[in-house]
Amino acid sequence: MKLNCLDCNTKNCRKNGADCFGLKEKSLDVYGDENTLTTVRSSGRLVDDGRAGTLSRFQEVIEFCTLQGYKKIGLAYCFGLESLAMNIREKMSASGLFLIPARCSMGGVKESDIDPEKKSEVYSCNPAGQAVFLNENADFVIEVGLCLGHDVIFHQQLKVPFTVLIVKDRVNGHAPLKGIQDYSV
Ligand code: SF4
Repeated sequence: MKLNCLDCNTKNCRKNGADCFGLKEKSLDVYGDENTLTTVRSSGRLVDDGRAGTLSRFQEVIEFCTLQGYKKIGLAYCFGLESLAMNIREKMSASGLFLIPARCSMGGVKESDIDPEKKSEVYSCNPAGQAVFLNENADFVIEVGLCLGHDVIFHQQLKVPFTVLIVKDRVNGHAPLKGIQDYSV
């Protein structure tokens, strides 16, 4: 592939409607779906008319869930962030939203059940179980602090729409941006 967006000097997609990779028709097919278009409109409501930069991510999530009319909102959280998950549920409930918690340890699966090479009798995190549960019980999912790799499995198995509210970064207070800015080889 010759072109790539970072090294492109023109950025003509934004300036002049260039379709460098032949994406236009296929993308418009996606937006032709009524649910997708509704999501686009809800997303726009958070930032249009000068609102961009006025809401925190948490405020955006609350408003987005309200706009979308989600009735059963799954909260997929890490057991290390139990009190934060409790706080999120309390505040979202106060905004009229119904949350269904899904702890990463749900399912009662041991590490040795998952990986035969492990002898550990410790009960494991179970992102696949979280996904199975939420596929059956939620119409939208908010993810809070799943470990790297577990989040990959979770996303692969999840069939309902989701957003990530907290990305786990133990070193940087769950703010990966700081880790990028501070990183040097
Ligand atoms: S014009 Fe846009 S899409 Fe094309 S290479 Fe440049 S940044 Fe990427």
